[in-house]
Amino acid sequence: MDSVYLDHNATTPLLPAVWEAMRPLMLEAANPASSHSAGRRARRALEGARERTAALLDAHPDEVIFTSGATEANNLAVLGLAGDPPGHLLVSAAEHPSVLGPAHRLAQTGFALDQLPVDGTGSVSMDALKRQLREDTRLVAVQLANHETGALQRVTPLAALAEERGIPFHCDAAAAAGKLPVSFRQLGVTSLTISAHKLHGPAGIGALLLRREARLRPQLWGGHQQQGRRPGTEPVALAVGLAAALDLAARESEDRSIHVRRLRGAFLERLRALAAPIVLNGPAEGGVPHTVNVSFPGCRADVLLMNLDLAGVACSTGSACSSGSLLPSPVLQAMGVPEPALHSAMRFSFSHLLSEAAVLAAAERIAQVARRLRATPVE
Ligand code: PMP
Repeated sequence: MDSVYLDHNATTPLLPAVWEAMRPLMLEAANPASSHSAGRRARRALEGARERTAALLDAHPDEVIFTSGATEANNLAVLGLAGDPPGHLLVSAAEHPSVLGPAHRLAQTGFALDQLPVDGTGSVSMDALKRQLREDTRLVAVQLANHETGALQRVTPLAALAEERGIPFHCDAAAAAGKLPVSFRQLGVTSLTISAHKLHGPAGIGALLLRREARLRPQLWGGHQQQGRRPGTEPVALAVGLAAALDLAARESEDRSIHVRRLRGAFLERLRALAAPIVLNGPAEGGVPHTVNVSFPGCRADVLLMNLDLAGVACSTGSACSSGSLLPSPVLQAMGVPEPALHSAMRFSFSHLLSEAAVLAAAERIAQVARRLRATPVE
């Protein structure tokens, strides 16, 4: 029995066309800082990738800083834009740990940290931002799409309000880029994070887009690469892979989106028919269709996860497991998801590569497992 992979928010398979674009550069020894001809070829490939990445995200090439992924880009933005303490940071409660982590780190060094609340669908309101902005706020961070529920934030007006007050605004778009059109310019944010392995590109590369006028303190020292903002030899092949993956996503955007929306609809319909009662956590409509978060009251998420793996469905609880005990997802907690939905929530994430038949087969396996677990008393 083939396993159905419904964990594309964890990572996506590399597309063959992306691999083909990367391959020659992977096999060649060339440092883009070298002045010989191989080095110059690598430099051209790197700068070409930077230009394509910028164009596809509606940014300027010198606004693209390549990083090792979204975790590094988020750390660079939060730690690099906040400046010195004292000061105030405002971060949405539903952020990815790679935004919350550096914000908490800054809080230990003398910054005051507040979280922007989210409502039951995971949305941050303008009113909350207005209420919580302070004279001394140094940074606001609100993601574009949520990694656990697919909820989309209305970033443009939120960022405009921060800009009016001269406050940098960081947006983590790792769960959105490649799934919907992202315009750095239109969003009006100071900085924006993307990651290649979330959009069928290679793991090990992402980017921080940073407005030209923004002042960023580097977090790494000791090299002149990327204007010293992120020193270190640039991984040319990976950068080319990122640009190629973004390019394909843009060209196929409409077809992919229609297909994934259909998958999500069919999946939920089958679950509702066979695994009731289920609870949908997050927006019913209007989110990123690639992500769906569903609770199965009467089941425990960790037990479900293990049994689903055995039954041939790869998915995630979207929450951290530590020392064998399941911690409820901070995102769902911030949304006010009540018990027993909180401890029975599973994240299923799709890609355009899945067939409807595979997704329906997965829904049937999930329903079977949920029914069996509900019928089994838990000690
Ligand atoms: N932000 C979001 C919204 C994500 O979904 C992820 C991946 N889990 C990250 C950041 C971290 O990405 P990376 O694996 O590229 O460090």
